[in-house]
This record gives sequence, C-alpha cells and structure tokens, in this order.
Amino acid sequence: MNNSSFKICSICENENMMKPKMGIHPCHGCQLSFCLIHLTKHREELLKKLDSVIIQRDELFELIFKNVNFTNENIEKFLQNINEWETKMHESVHQVAEQNRDNVRVEFTRQLNEIKVRYDEFTKELAEIRENDTFFENDIEQLLVKLEQFKQEIHQINILLQLNQIDNIDWSRLNHLKQQEKSVISYLNNSQLLFERQIISLHDRNCFFLAASHTHILAYILSINRNENRLILYNTLDGTELCSTELDVRFGNVCDIIYAETLNYCFLVVCRQVILIYNPQQMIFTIISEIKPIDEHPFLHKILDIIYHHC
Ligand SMILES: [Zn+2]
Ligand SMILES: [Zn+2]
Repeated sequence: MNNSSFKICSICENENMMKPKMGIHPCHGCQLSFCLIHLTKHREELLKKLDSVIIQRDELFELIFKNVNFTNENIEKFLQNINEWETKMHESVHQVAEQNRDNVRVEFTRQLNEIKVRYDEFTKELAEIRENDTFFENDIEQLLVKLEQFKQEIHQINILLQLNQIDNIDWSRLNHLKQQEKSVISYLNNSQLLFERQIISLHDRNCFFLAASHTHILAYILSINRNENRLILYNTLDGTELCSTELDVRFGNVCDIIYAETLNYCFLVVCRQVILIYNPQQMIFTIISEIKPIDEHPFLHKILDIIYHHC
C-alpha cells in the first residue's frame, strides 16, 4: 500500500514529532487517525473521561439518597400534614352538616308555626260567624274558596333548603399538596335560638326578634310566603313605621338584635353569617366585615372597637 494514501498521525503532527508516523489506525468516534502508540494513548484518554463520568454518577447517588426531601422524617411530616388536613376537613364537614340539620329543624318549625297561626285565625273566623249566626250562602261560598286556597297553599309548600357550602366544594381542586385556603367556613351556631323562638305578631307580620330604645323599635320580619326578610324601624312612641330595610339573603337569618347606648346608640343585628350595625338616626346599616366567620373569634372586645369606627 502506498504511504501517500494515509495522513500523518494526528498526535505526531500536533506534538511536532521529529519523525511523525502515518496515522494507519482510524478512530471511528472523532474520525482522526493515529499511529499504533498514539491510538493506545487516545483510547486511554477516552477511558479517563468515561471514569470521570462514573465518579460524577456516584456523587449523584449521594445527592439523591441523602437529600433531606427523601428522608423518612420528611415524608412523615408530609403525611402528618395530610392527616391534620383530613381531621380539619372532617370537623368542618361535621360542623356544616350540624348547621344544616339545624336549618332543617328551624325551617320546618317556622313554616309549621306560620301555617298554624293562619289555621287558628281561620278557625276563629269560622267560630265567630257560626256563633253570630249571621251567614248567608255567599259567606259559605267565600269560606269554601278560602279553605280551598289554604289547602292549595299547603300542597305547594316547598321547603328549599340551601345546604351551606357542602355541595360547592370543588374536591378536585383540593387534591394537590399546596396549602389551601380554608374552603369550608363555619357559621354562628345559634340557630337553636331561632328554633325555640316564639313568633311575635307585630302589625300582622311575623316578627322573630326586636329591640327597643326610648325612641325606636327595630324588628326583624321574616315570612317566606310574603317574601319578606327585612328590618323594620318603628317609632317607639306611636308605633308608626319609619323605615323598612330589605336584608340580603346571603346574610342568613337574623339571630338576635341588641340595643345599647354604649354601642353609640346603634342596634347590633346578629345574622347567621354577618353582624350588622344599624344606625336608627341615619336608618342605614353597616356590615362588620372584620368578623367572619363569627364563631371562630373571641369577638366581644373586637366588636366594641369596630362599632366606634363605624358609627
Ligand atoms: Zn478518537
Ligand atoms: Zn503518532
């Protein structure tokens, strides 16, 4: 074979050897050609580079298995967080369920009371007519119409119960490890108060709560049939109605009304989901948005602070 068909060995050429040899051994990796001695040297260099990668792989192993994130304690910590979250969610769900059971009792009782009041009125009317003996055919006809209407209304009673929040939890959104904002809130748990409350008939309206000052009476009027859910302000002296304020249904039912001169001559209206300050002079209310959810805070001291800011 003719020497001129080979190039000079790459290393011999680079190192300016006095007698460079022909590169008769090609490297299939870098496409250079070497003499036998320098081919061996080239392979040794490649081997060194591979060993260096293997050493770095060993460091990687340590990095993985000694990393604090993969320690048992750390995994336990994560599991513990999930356990705590689970317990908290159980408690919240239990609380909301409890609240809704109360709502059912309150709503059924309220509607039953309302019907009973009207039933008693009807009975009284019938008894009076019969006793006075002053009825004619058309009176009986009207009474029958009234009776029929009453029956219809009873058939149509449809208790719409809004399950607080339970149906609205987006469980899929909770299924990741980031700290979530609290998705179930608890409500003022005093619906028992409303449940046991006798309805007061005030100007022929169903009044659940009222409070009075020397000049004003503030009453909470609730009637689903008449679509009323409002605060009405009366003049204490002559009983005239001064102002009627529709309440947002999202406030929930009113649970209590308190008046005190020490509250800057305002009424404190406790709803299931908000607390309102009702100013009888200006006939407007302000929501104390700082207190929510109510029963999670020891709020009595805080209320007084806030009232002085609002009034
Ligand atoms: Zn090579
Ligand atoms: Zn060489």
